[in-house]
Amino acid sequence: MSRSRIVIVGAGFAGYQAARTLSRTLPRTVRDAVEIVLVNPNDYFLYMPLLPEVASGMLEPRRVSVSLAGTLPHVRLVLGEVGSVDFDRRTLRYVDPEGRSGELGYDRLLLTVGSVNKLLPIPGVAEHAHGFRGMPEALYLRDHVNRQIALAAAADDPEEAAARRTFVVVGAGYTGTEVAAHGQMFTDALARQHSRDGQRAGGGRRLPEGERPRWMLLDIAPRVLPELDERLSETAHRVLRKRGVDVRPGTSIKEATSEGVLLDSGEFVPTRSLIWCVGVRPDPLVKDLGLETQQGRLVVDEYLRVPGHPEVMACGDAAAVPDLTRPGEITPMTAQHAVRQGKTAGRNLAASFGYGASRPYKHHDLGFMVDLGGVQAAANPLKVPLSGPLANLVTRGYHLASMPGNRIRVLADWALDAVLPRQAAQLGLVRSWSVPLESSSPEVARTPVS
Ligand SMILES: Cc1cc2nc3c(=O)[nH]c(=O)nc-3n(C[C@H](O)[C@H](O)[C@H](O)COP(=O)(O)OP(=O)(O)OC[C@H]3O[C@@H](n4cnc5c(N)ncnc54)[C@H](O)[C@@H]3O)c2cc1C
Repeated sequence: MSRSRIVIVGAGFAGYQAARTLSRTLPRTVRDAVEIVLVNPNDYFLYMPLLPEVASGMLEPRRVSVSLAGTLPHVRLVLGEVGSVDFDRRTLRYVDPEGRSGELGYDRLLLTVGSVNKLLPIPGVAEHAHGFRGMPEALYLRDHVNRQIALAAAADDPEEAAARRTFVVVGAGYTGTEVAAHGQMFTDALARQHSRDGQRAGGGRRLPEGERPRWMLLDIAPRVLPELDERLSETAHRVLRKRGVDVRPGTSIKEATSEGVLLDSGEFVPTRSLIWCVGVRPDPLVKDLGLETQQGRLVVDEYLRVPGHPEVMACGDAAAVPDLTRPGEITPMTAQHAVRQGKTAGRNLAASFGYGASRPYKHHDLGFMVDLGGVQAAANPLKVPLSGPLANLVTRGYHLASMPGNRIRVLADWALDAVLPRQAAQLGLVRSWSVPLESSSPEVARTPVS
């Protein structure tokens, strides 16, 4: 009897959960008859919500990178990036990390390739901005920020020093808000370590006037976290302001240059750091598949099946999954939905082999949490608005419960961060050219760490 093969493309929130659910749902006795293959460019699942903590030196990078081989024992991992799918022949082609191409046949296919940075046609942005989407970007940003603070401290020219101490984040969604909130705390700590006057003052608790790093958070929307509950937005705004972040709602940029950014108000902000968190669009593979899309995402039904291809499913950020709790709408691009869709896809894939019953995807939003660094957070679990240390506790507890591994290591890093100063060492592992903002070509966008 020939072995059936289920191929899952992408090991993010949706793909990881699908593989895990599927391997747990299929009975042991059929493991020899049904092979589960996961194709992903890296050998880890990235827990993206904690990436701002990696960029700000609180968590070590491997804490948020959960080994696929170590946590998915009955799943075969194929390292590679899928470039095309032949739906008639039921095969896909991929390129492995060493540039070799390969082909895989499938009986069932699940597409969970997620999303990439969204660019806007603003002059200079593609050349001078850096996105914030994966591990290379987080590590690049951590080093870059470290370097700017060190160079600012050594600069003789006060204008150059001020530009190097200025960091502009565009996009006040949860990613941009968290990056700015953590970034201000991180750079304050770094600047204190570099400050000559501060050290003389013993421990450098207060930075001398003019040496404090400046973070700006811009968004065209009238408030931060525009897509979330207004109360979360107010809490986040208050915390950011108190921390010293220059929050500019209703503001965007007209142009970016190597010397700074021109705001739409006409103000020029000298800076060497433009961090682009303007949003996401589905992975470029989605467009190349030739399947029907809605808002750039693959059209699927409530069982996550691609119309006209009963053996193909899709979910997560890459798919336009009907939101049965809000008829006529599709589910937002969040980890909360991707995780649950992945589980549904895993169960439905098992059902397609006769194990269990297929179910439609339906999930009521459980609220959102935004970690603002220190003991601050804004959260509304089950629609209950929380702020301050309680929100922070709930947020961290939620992240720990949601991570499929490395929990003790994350806890240990949090504990160390509470009692020890941040480490200001640059590792120089990621060069700026290996984290381009434009991701129209997936191979280029994900060039591995040099
Ligand atoms: C910094 C940051 C913070 C976030 N914080 C939150 C949060 O707090 N709460 C929340 O709900 N959401 C959050 N999100 C959004 C959330 O991470 C996404 O909605 C979620 O990752 C979507 O899951 P996914 O499985 O669809 O895609 P992803 O998690 O993006 O996974 C896609 C996977 O597919 C792989 N892939 C892509 N193309 C190919 C290909 N051609 N071949 C093979 N593999 C491929 C990718 O490498 C990746 O491993 C955050 C996002 C970011 C960037």
